[in-house]
Amino acid sequence: MKFNTKTIHAGVHPDPSTGAIMTPIFQTSTYVQNAPGDHKGYEYARTQNPTRQVLEANVAALEEGKYGIAFGSGLAALDAIMKLLEAGDEVIATNDLYGGSYRLMTAIYGKLGIKSTFVDLTDPEVLKEHLNEKTKLVWLETPTNPLLRILDIRRLVDIAHEAGVMVCVDNTFASPYLQQPLTLGSDLVLHSATKYLGGHSDVVLGIVATSSEALAERLYYIQNASGGVPGPQDCFLVIRGIKTLHVRMQRACENAAKIVAFLQEHPNVDRIIYPGLPSHPNHDIAKRQMKDFGAMVSFDLKGEDPEAGLRVLQNTKLFALAESLGGVESLISLPAAMTHASIPREDRLASGLTDTLIRMSVGIEDVEDLIADLKQALSH
Ligand SMILES: *Cc1c(COP(=O)(O)O)cnc(C)c1O
Repeated sequence: MKFNTKTIHAGVHPDPSTGAIMTPIFQTSTYVQNAPGDHKGYEYARTQNPTRQVLEANVAALEEGKYGIAFGSGLAALDAIMKLLEAGDEVIATNDLYGGSYRLMTAIYGKLGIKSTFVDLTDPEVLKEHLNEKTKLVWLETPTNPLLRILDIRRLVDIAHEAGVMVCVDNTFASPYLQQPLTLGSDLVLHSATKYLGGHSDVVLGIVATSSEALAERLYYIQNASGGVPGPQDCFLVIRGIKTLHVRMQRACENAAKIVAFLQEHPNVDRIIYPGLPSHPNHDIAKRQMKDFGAMVSFDLKGEDPEAGLRVLQNTKLFALAESLGGVESLISLPAAMTHASIPREDRLASGLTDTLIRMSVGIEDVEDLIADLKQALSH
């Protein structure tokens, strides 16, 4: 089965008791047994739920993996991965990562004796300098947020594996439509399905995929033992969202490219960050690693006026001012004042995140309407 067919069919089957073509929402906490221990493979819904199992099988197939393990949120999925480690183990993570992942690694797991180091991995060789005998996990996120840096997954995996260290790629920003990290050697892949997989800004859910039976067994154990599972209704929403992942991603990527072309011609726009531009420092690796360049676009305004970015945000009518990304509707945000406000200003500036940097999650509306909206907002 090819990718677009898999989004609709992989892991999905008509309900055997009724023939319902859509996966039923098994809203139940327990299952009736014939005699103690004599059951149909389902005992208690934290441990097994048929709706969740369909979602897990589907995402595993989309990522070219064998196993999917679903959680109540993307961060609950990361939490389960961190529980594979022990006190004294160390993590090396990309320095440009989702703020919630940074917080979980430092504020929660740092206290429990797992140290995380954050380094710029756009040059893969840098990883070698930081690996040591305590390193047990390399954490990658690509493209990054909001600077859209691209990491060379294959090269970083090779370096980590030479040292016997496992790798997880947070694939939330790309989705399996654009890249499949397991095929590039990654041991684990994580999704905040809240974003592109769900695709409709109506659910919070996380999922991990892997081809390793040993890792899957341990993660299923943690899923049940720690209990951070998603509800069946949320699993259903993500199963449904994924059925249009390929058409949504294709359109969103096309819209993003056209918006970038518009911004390039605009007199008020300074730097544009989009991996599809040949001027992007990681354009070559993006071209090699990704099917298209994604639907996230960041840009700076000309001049030093810190209020200028805010004015654009306040004047868009179609682009909604909001955090998050990956839905059918276009969103716009000012990371320095919103998602990244907790990072000290000097650190932000050092990494290239200016006060006026505007980030857009481009949706699937008519691109002419999106461009007209930006045009009027930029003229204020
Ligand atoms: C949103 C997000 C997460 C966290 O996922 P939740 O579902 O919000 O818990 C992790 N990584 C990335 C890249 C994200 O964008």
